Amino acid sequence: MADANRLTVDCFVLHHAVTPTWENKSKAEIAQWFSDNGFARAYSSNPNNWSGLINPYTGGRSYSQAHIAGQRVDGSTPDATPDERDAGFRWIPLVADIWGQITWHAGNWNMNCRSIGIECLGDYRNYTLRDWDARILGAFWRPQDQNLGGATAIYGHREVSDSSTECPARIMEMRDTVVSYCNNPPAPAPVITTNDVTVVTDVPFETTRIPDPSKLIGEEVIVNDGVLGKRTIVTRVTYTNGVETNRSVVSDKTTIPTNKVIYFGTKEPVVIVPDPELTPETPPIDVPVEPVPVDNTPRTFAEFLKVGLTIILAQKDKIVALIKAIIAKLK
Ligand SMILES: [Zn+2]
Repeated sequence: MADANRLTVDCFVLHHAVTPTWENKSKAEIAQWFSDNGFARAYSSNPNNWSGLINPYTGGRSYSQAHIAGQRVDGSTPDATPDERDAGFRWIPLVADIWGQITWHAGNWNMNCRSIGIECLGDYRNYTLRDWDARILGAFWRPQDQNLGGATAIYGHREVSDSSTECPARIMEMRDTVVSYCNNPPAPAPVITTNDVTVVTDVPFETTRIPDPSKLIGEEVIVNDGVLGKRTIVTRVTYTNGVETNRSVVSDKTTIPTNKVIYFGTKEPVVIVPDPELTPETPPIDVPVEPVPVDNTPRTFAEFLKVGLTIILAQKDKIVALIKAIIAKLK
């Protein structure tokens, strides 16, 4: 249950633990270490002074002297989430009710009652917080700052302690950065996605025409049907936060078309130009009439008529053809 002396939490106090950075320790191991360390430093002379803090990983007593720890995370950290690994830093609860319980971290009773104390693992005399560490601490404090309408403060231990301390050493160099990240959350890293777009187009074939003297002019033989080729272009489209920001060809392959081949005849045909005068239906007009022996013998009209009819009958087929030809020409 919450400590009756707890005040509205409007301060965040930064400490350094003067420990190794301990990337390889689990949350529970770190909480246990701070409980043991607090017991050794403050409670061992009289364990009845236990102030009701609970270890959130064991459910047993905690003697931790801060509410949370800040830990660098790397590949060796045993229980880090993907987000924690991406950030390279995380904050770890050391007691079960960080907002309702007082811990003895500030060296100032009033400040203890109204603050959250964080112990950043490491010895910050030698280095300071990294940018992402400051982002994580700013993000931790931001909800509380918003709850209180921006009326909170972030301090270094030495600014609030009643006793002399260099804590949090060079973390002070990044204190204002933590405040800035609390007030102005940095834009999240852009989300980059890609999509490959494949476009296939036909590649036309050509037609090859080969002369073939064995074929008549006008004859054609297709000896090879053309086959279209295919050009396949893969374009990778890059989106930044859903908006296209780049487009590049990652693959461009073409299958060659097969040409169409045609043999065409070049042989001149034997032309038989029909003589319109000599068609079977059009016998020559000037059909030669077989000569008939001339008989100059004087004769009667009847004899003359007989000779004439004899000549006509002898040529009657040719005469009929001649008449037909004349009629045909007249049509
Ligand atoms: Zn301190």
